[in-house]
Amino acid sequence: MPTSTSPGLPSPARGGASGTDGAGGADLVARDRRAVWHPYAAASHDGPLFAVASAAGVRLTLTDGRELIDGMSSWWAAIHGYRHPVLDEAVRTQLGSMSHVMFGGLTHEPAVRLAETLVAITPEPLRRVFLCDSGSVAVEVAIKMALQYWTGRGRPERTRLLTIRRGYHGDTSGAMSVCDPDAGMHHLFSQLLPRHLFAPAPRCAYDEPCEDADVAEFERLFARHAHEVAAVILEPVVQGTGAMSFYAPGWLARVRELCDHHGVLLIADEIAVGFGRSGELFGCDHAGISPDIMCVGKALTGGYLSMAATLCTDEVAAGVSDSPAGAFMHGPTFMANPLASAVANASVELLLSSPWRDRVAEISAGLAAGLAPAAELAGVADVRVLGAIGVIETRDPVDMAVIQPLLVELGVWVRPFGRLVYTMPPFITSPADVATLTDAMVEAVARTT
Ligand SMILES: *Cc1c(COP(=O)(O)O)cnc(C)c1O
Repeated sequence: MPTSTSPGLPSPARGGASGTDGAGGADLVARDRRAVWHPYAAASHDGPLFAVASAAGVRLTLTDGRELIDGMSSWWAAIHGYRHPVLDEAVRTQLGSMSHVMFGGLTHEPAVRLAETLVAITPEPLRRVFLCDSGSVAVEVAIKMALQYWTGRGRPERTRLLTIRRGYHGDTSGAMSVCDPDAGMHHLFSQLLPRHLFAPAPRCAYDEPCEDADVAEFERLFARHAHEVAAVILEPVVQGTGAMSFYAPGWLARVRELCDHHGVLLIADEIAVGFGRSGELFGCDHAGISPDIMCVGKALTGGYLSMAATLCTDEVAAGVSDSPAGAFMHGPTFMANPLASAVANASVELLLSSPWRDRVAEISAGLAAGLAPAAELAGVADVRVLGAIGVIETRDPVDMAVIQPLLVELGVWVRPFGRLVYTMPPFITSPADVATLTDAMVEAVARTT
């Protein structure tokens, strides 16, 4: 059995991962470049890479000692910031009883409590919870539920999904198949992916009314294919990674009406926007609607561990159980992991007992004021804010090799993507830190576009 003294195995001391000297960080980056793959990167990726030694509150500390204000919440997840004492304690306490136990034939208090809480805080008809490992898996689970539901209701020909362009639902096959067909990975994996139906993304912005003309194309596509559609799947009100755009709640309400009219299920992917990010607890709450199936993830555990959940109505659960299989055919190894469940309970309870609405509103006002000057820049196409999400959309894609180190130099961790320089800071971010974030974003865009 290998030990830390085995020849060829790196020892922690060699890495400088916990050191604060620049050399340790440089060594870590060099080792990373030899052995590690990063998200959406070539193996030989040589772009900017920063070694993090620790994180606390809203600050990331690099191995060279520099502190950055975190503007990303580690991709929508760390809503309470890092090393929150309540969340740390929840994990520690759970470690004392069990880290994991299989979920087939066994259950435990953290999972039951989490399911009860999710049922209580989501729209009323959602009554049953399937806990899974990540957002993408939650989307796979939602899609499988919808298809099994229709086999249980004697309509097995209902196998297609209807969605909107510019969506993002994850990186596994089923999820990829409903991501934006142009920006997504359809052309790379066309042999693997089923062909679903894509309506244009909503054109009415969040604060605009939704007219008949705005839903006309969606309505036509729906009417033509309703007989073969199992479900409509979309991100409610906030299109995240694919667009960073905010559309009219009235548009979502119309989609709900059309799903009812055609007797088709509605899947709401709340993985990015859920748990207060948009100013309401869930995206669906803006429109006062309830989906038949809902996916949550990302902020569910406050950014501590990977966990997501798919909720459904009693009707969907009954249909799935009436299907020829007689059971829902999914069951991840780490389903309902107790550590993740415990920290999810702590995170949701912490959120609900905090003045999160006021905090998100305050961040929102800070983002709107701080990003406004960007609207005057020649290289900027649009500036928009909803809840604790602030976006500068540039006219041309940003040069990551230039803008990423510049943002770090300006003291913030903001990770642009294509033509989007955006932030979704932890809810505990102070007005002064929000101002530092927005000033850095505006300056970085001004100097690089
Ligand atoms: C991030 C995201 C996913 C995928 O979640 P992972 O945990 O990365 O698998 C799915 N849907 C939306 C809307 C997301 O933002």
